[in-house]
Amino acid sequence: MTSVAGSNLPAFDQIRPEHAEPAIDAVLADNRAKLATLLASVDDSSSASWATLIEPLQDMAERLARAWGPVVHLFAVTSTADWRAAHNACLPKVTQYYVDTSQNAALFRAYVGLENGADIEQWPVGQQKTIRNAVRDFKLSGVSLPEAPRARFRAIGIRVPELEAKFQENVLDAVQAWSLDVADESLLAGMTAQARDGARAKARAHGTDGFRLTLDFPSYDAVISYADDRALRRTLYEAYATRASEEGPLGGLYDNGPLMEEILALRHEQAGLLGFANYAELSLATKMAKSTQEVERFLLDLSARARPRAALELDALQSLANERDGLTDLEIWDLPYYVEKLRERQLGFSEDELRPYFQAHEVIAGMFALVQRLYGIRIEQVTNVSTWHPDVTTYAVRDAAGAAIGLFYLDPYARENKRGGAWMDECVGRRRSPHADQDPACYLTCNFAAPLADQPALLSHREVVTLFHEFGHGLQHLLTRVDEPAVSGLRGVEWDAVELPSQFMENWCYDKDTLRTFGRHWKTGEILPEALLTKLKASRTFAAGLATLRQIEFALFDLRLHRDYDPRTKGWVLQTLSQTRRDVSLVHPPSYNRMPSSFAHIFGGGYAAGYYSYKWAEVLSADAFAAFEETGFAGETGPRFRDSILAQGGSRDAMDLFVAFRGRKPNVDALLRQSGLGAPK
Ligand code: ZN
Repeated sequence: MTSVAGSNLPAFDQIRPEHAEPAIDAVLADNRAKLATLLASVDDSSSASWATLIEPLQDMAERLARAWGPVVHLFAVTSTADWRAAHNACLPKVTQYYVDTSQNAALFRAYVGLENGADIEQWPVGQQKTIRNAVRDFKLSGVSLPEAPRARFRAIGIRVPELEAKFQENVLDAVQAWSLDVADESLLAGMTAQARDGARAKARAHGTDGFRLTLDFPSYDAVISYADDRALRRTLYEAYATRASEEGPLGGLYDNGPLMEEILALRHEQAGLLGFANYAELSLATKMAKSTQEVERFLLDLSARARPRAALELDALQSLANERDGLTDLEIWDLPYYVEKLRERQLGFSEDELRPYFQAHEVIAGMFALVQRLYGIRIEQVTNVSTWHPDVTTYAVRDAAGAAIGLFYLDPYARENKRGGAWMDECVGRRRSPHADQDPACYLTCNFAAPLADQPALLSHREVVTLFHEFGHGLQHLLTRVDEPAVSGLRGVEWDAVELPSQFMENWCYDKDTLRTFGRHWKTGEILPEALLTKLKASRTFAAGLATLRQIEFALFDLRLHRDYDPRTKGWVLQTLSQTRRDVSLVHPPSYNRMPSSFAHIFGGGYAAGYYSYKWAEVLSADAFAAFEETGFAGETGPRFRDSILAQGGSRDAMDLFVAFRGRKPNVDALLRQSGLGAPK
């Protein structure tokens, strides 16, 4: 058994940007040579077997992952000019390799030979699923196309990831390029002491007095949700809502407009080459949802349920703004502010009152205690693992008997040159075979405000939810029992089911007993008071109508953008956005709003025609959590969830796994109940 802190892990203290390209070049050349030899040896497809074909291929995939994974990761968490250059030099080469492999006709024939073999039904399910997924993915990579369209498909497959990387770069650059220095502290009235301290520290770090406001989300949110000064909120909104576009204060500097046009056109063309009517159909070919109609129906039905609630919420915000500040024209930069004010009035507390109770290290410890109890595992900090920054901590996961299961890195705080947001990414995937015996490892990355000189890092409740969410992804990666790397952990899981384990974890952030274990005032040590706990629980459905509509707007926009794309239509992106907003939204942003220009999920990542997955999987996660509620959080439900969902990874269809856990198909009732959207019709 490999030790969790063993030689599997990257030597981060030694990896330099200048190492990346030579290492990638060497692995790619070696893999190409090995693949040629391998294919020659299994030329006669009857000689191919799991042991002779798949194991060596997995060795090769592993070698590439070990070289490329750390480059991708370091590029994200230490995005210096050197790392960006190193990453961008490797990206086209790696993409080229993947595209070539995915279109390798001899390799495809060998896989088909295995799939059609007489004995495949006797193989372990993980092996069967590996082969079937691979054959499907070969077909979706254009392997069966005639030469000319295949070459075109390949060219697009190389171009699109470059465009996506550039899209992300523009967003990051645009965020970093804008700041507002405020000399007069009274302008920041309403903002929390923590936010003002943070802004002062930022100004000082840049050698100026006063306060520096920036567009990274914690800084933006601190203004848009709390600053009393309406003009200040508007200034921040205008910069934020136009980032990476042709509009706004940096208009045209980091404009993602042309990139979006090209990405959409190429995706559409790619789908057409495979015989799909549009890219959304191609996207759904590997997902749980059966058709674009099914997804649209799901979203529109949910929006119909959320709309009446959202309308009431909007009325309440408007009356409050009027009554409190004489505001008769509630603008979009007023909304988050009055949402907070309405929360204070209706629930009797502000989000920010909770922050002193959520010290980052206590929350982390409480989260570990929860999953240790739920799944019978142990989590222990380890110190002999090399990392990329002093803030990063590493933890070993063990079973109840102390045997190693896996390891994870936690990189909690925002810093310069670190990509914004929160995410889980894999470092090493689980694999058990005569060739390898490796435990899973993963990265958990967040962007919480760092501790100050005289104060520990304090999280908002929203940040607590984010942490639990990403840890849910981490647990699916770490607790997998699948031996075949192509379907272990999150690999091979249908994209619209991937958010099940993550959103499932969010539920615990509203559970009083769980909150009591880590909600402790950082100064007084007082446990989160019962009254505040009750309010927090009630806050889950607060403004849930508007929040649901917002998610539906994103999801429907993404779906229609890719489903109804017409290359002849000028201004397709904004046109689709307007139409979608007309159909489902109650809040209409100003015409300069360029939300798509920073919608990295669909233009810079893998959520294209798949953003609906969040809501789709929320049906699953709410329904799964309801199983815990129904059994009074009985001890056996946790292990059953671990065994039937988390441990299985992508080795079986997500629907089958869900049915195995729940005893029936998923049902939307639990989600509606949870979001306070009323009983089902
Ligand atoms: Zn997620």
